[in-house]
Amino acid sequence: MLHRRLRPLLGIVAAGALITTLSPAGYAEQDPSPVEVATSTGSAETPAPTGSADGAVAADRADLAQDWNPPGHLVQPLAEVWNHVETTYPDLYGFRNYGWDQLVANNGQINYCVRWDSAAPVSAQLRDQIHTALRRQVSKWMGTMQQGVLGWPYAEVGVNIVGWAVRDRSTLQWNDDSVDIYVNDIRENAPQCAEVCGRFFNQNGDYSRCPGGAARHYDQSLWLTAGMGGGAGGDWGQRIGSEYMVNSLGQDNIHILLHEIGHTFGLDDFYDWTPTGVGGFLMKAGTASQVTEFDAWMFKDFWRHLRSRYGL
Ligand SMILES: [Zn+2]
Repeated sequence: MLHRRLRPLLGIVAAGALITTLSPAGYAEQDPSPVEVATSTGSAETPAPTGSADGAVAADRADLAQDWNPPGHLVQPLAEVWNHVETTYPDLYGFRNYGWDQLVANNGQINYCVRWDSAAPVSAQLRDQIHTALRRQVSKWMGTMQQGVLGWPYAEVGVNIVGWAVRDRSTLQWNDDSVDIYVNDIRENAPQCAEVCGRFFNQNGDYSRCPGGAARHYDQSLWLTAGMGGGAGGDWGQRIGSEYMVNSLGQDNIHILLHEIGHTFGLDDFYDWTPTGVGGFLMKAGTASQVTEFDAWMFKDFWRHLRSRYGL
């Protein structure tokens, strides 16, 4: 049985053996293991009556003219989702460290630190495969955005992996300097890249104490933990099992990572309810293994409701 373990919240998050300690400005969602995925996502979505779109219409009349045009059968469930978000997130419009905030602050780029919370050795080849797979997963979400639509300013979103954190330098079997390497900087009982370089710890964007400066700062961590099932996602990044990641490198869609990236960009879980008329989708864990049309529209809707803070 899947059930909701944690909601987006402010303050300290602790869930059994998976301790995630966050600063007061953070949020996280924890997804229990196993996150099971149906092998087929072909269930038909029931069209909703198109005349009942009051919520979405009220949301932003200006957008409706051209930019905000979800398919008729998604209008009602999208309105339900946004209403749910507005009534359950503790600081929806005040929170300033969603993935969106990070992306705009970094001019359309996301910088990552990989927290290798495992003793398994990493070759240069494996490192590069992880980078490639991470970029592909981020692009699954970002590819749903169109430059110029809903004020989205980017033709493409870049993903830069700038650092790796390990307990022991010898775990990393390369000698080139393509990424910064952080050894035995432990937080939450796991290696991390330096806090002076991390967006989570420096949300004013001041990376002057980071040895590599702003260019080597990281916005998010990809935290890969040995033996972990399920995952967690928040403004600090995503956490999944290291074996799961390595074993999924050949897959087009690494669905737990995709789901957790959704959380980083503010999307909610659906362990306790389902929007009207929608079949399986990625953010409803265990019901889809890729970004569906509904996920994509929820993603765009989150941006739509935040864009004004950027003057876009
Ligand atoms: Zn989740």
